[in-house]
Amino acid sequence: MAAKREFPLDKTRNIGIMAHIDAGKTTTTERILFYTGKIHKIGETHEGASQMDWMEEEQERGITITSAATTAQWKDYRINIIDTPGHVDFTIEVERSLRVLDGVITVLDAQSGVEPQTENVWRQAANYNVPNIVFVNKMDKIGADFDYSVQTIHDRLQANAHAIQIPIGAEDQFSGIIDLVTMKAYLYDVDEVGDKWDTVDIPADYQDKAKKMHDELVEAVADVNDDVMEKYLNGEEITVEELKAGIRRATIDLKFFPVLVGSAFKNKGVQMLLDAVVDYLPSPLEVRPYIAHKPGTEESVELQAGDDQPFAALAFKIATDPFVGRLTYIRVYTGSLPSGSYVLNATKDSRERVGRLLQMHANHRTEISEVFSGDIAAAIGLKNTTTGDSLTDVNTPLILESMVFPDPVIQVS
Ligand code: GDP
Repeated sequence: MAAKREFPLDKTRNIGIMAHIDAGKTTTTERILFYTGKIHKIGETHEGASQMDWMEEEQERGITITSAATTAQWKDYRINIIDTPGHVDFTIEVERSLRVLDGVITVLDAQSGVEPQTENVWRQAANYNVPNIVFVNKMDKIGADFDYSVQTIHDRLQANAHAIQIPIGAEDQFSGIIDLVTMKAYLYDVDEVGDKWDTVDIPADYQDKAKKMHDELVEAVADVNDDVMEKYLNGEEITVEELKAGIRRATIDLKFFPVLVGSAFKNKGVQMLLDAVVDYLPSPLEVRPYIAHKPGTEESVELQAGDDQPFAALAFKIATDPFVGRLTYIRVYTGSLPSGSYVLNATKDSRERVGRLLQMHANHRTEISEVFSGDIAAAIGLKNTTTGDSLTDVNTPLILESMVFPDPVIQVS
C-alpha cells in the first residue's frame, strides 16, 4: 500500500538563502537549523566550543550537516533549505538551485545594505520568478543602519521592497523588533529563550514612527493587492490577517519584497524570519507551473504540483557519502515514488532503480519509504544519473532541465 504523505503540500516550503559574502548566510542558516529543532544542543556544547566547532565535530563523525538540502520543521510546516552555491556569479549551479526552490531569503549586512553579489543573486532569483524576502542582518554591528539598507534595495535593485519590521535601536543599543503587521514589539531582554516569546506594546518613543510606517506599509500593499486596496479606498479597517494575506499574495506575485530585520545572533529575529517564510513564501502549490517537454519534441507540458500525476523529478545534486555511497538529491515536481521502484532517466533514456530514499536533516537522516510531490530528498542506487537529469515515470518521459517559467502568475485562492 502506498505510504501516506506526512506533510500536506501547502505546509511545505522549499527555500534557499542567498547573500553577498560575509553578510551572515552561514550563521543565519545554522540558526534556522537550530530553531527548527534539528540541532538540539547549541547551549550544551562543551565549554568553549562554538556551534561551528560542534558542527565540524559532528561532520568528522560522518553526520551530514551541510548537505545539499536540509529538511527542517517549524511549527507544523516542513521547510526544506536548499543550499545555493556560495557567493558565485552566474553559473548553471545557481540556476539549477533556483529551479528547485520556491522562495529565497536574501540576507543583507545592515551596515552595507545591497552589495555587488547581492545584486547578482537577486537578479537571478528574479529571472526565475522566485519570490524573495529580505533579512537585514547584523543590526547589532557597529555602523548598522536599517533605513539605509532598505534604501539600497530601492536604489540598487529597483525592487518594491518595504519594511514589515523595524529595529528598536541599532548597534550595541539594538534591543528588539517592532512588527509593523501586528503592531507589536519583541524585546530581547524579555523571554529571550525558547520558541515562544512575549509580545509587548510598542515602546512610547517608537509609537509615532511605527504608526507612520504601518500606514505606509498598508498603502504599499494596497498598491499591489486589490483586496487590500478595496478596503483601503472604502476607509475600512484592514485586519492583521488581511494585511498578511495581501503581503503574501503580492510577494508570491513578485510585486512586493518584505524586509525583515534582526541579528542572526539573536533568537527572536531568526524565529520571526521563520514565521515570515511560512507566512509569505509560497508552497509548491502556489508557484507558477514548471514547464517540461517531451523528449525529442517541442511539445511542452505544464507541471502543477500534486501527487495524482505521473512521477517527475529533477536530480539537482550528486554527492558522495561515506556510508551509503552516491546520493542523488532530487526535487519531486509531480507524483510520488516508493523506494525500490524503477524510474526513467528521461535525459539519458535509460531505466534506473531507486534503492533507498533518505531525508537529510541537519544532524541526522531518516529513511523514507516514499517521496511525494514537492519533496526534496536524496536517492540511493541511481548509478547513471548525473546533475540536471530528469527522472520520471517509466511510461511518461519528460525533460525538466530546460524549464522556463511562463506568465501569467497562477492565482491561488
Ligand atoms: P556568510 O559568508 O554570508 O556565510 O557569512 P557568515 O555567516 O560566515 O558570517 C560572517 C561573519 O559575520 C562571521 O564572523 C559571523 O560571526 C558574523 N555575523 C553573522 N551574523 C552576525 C550578526 O547578526 N551580528 C554580528 N555582529 N556578526 C554577525
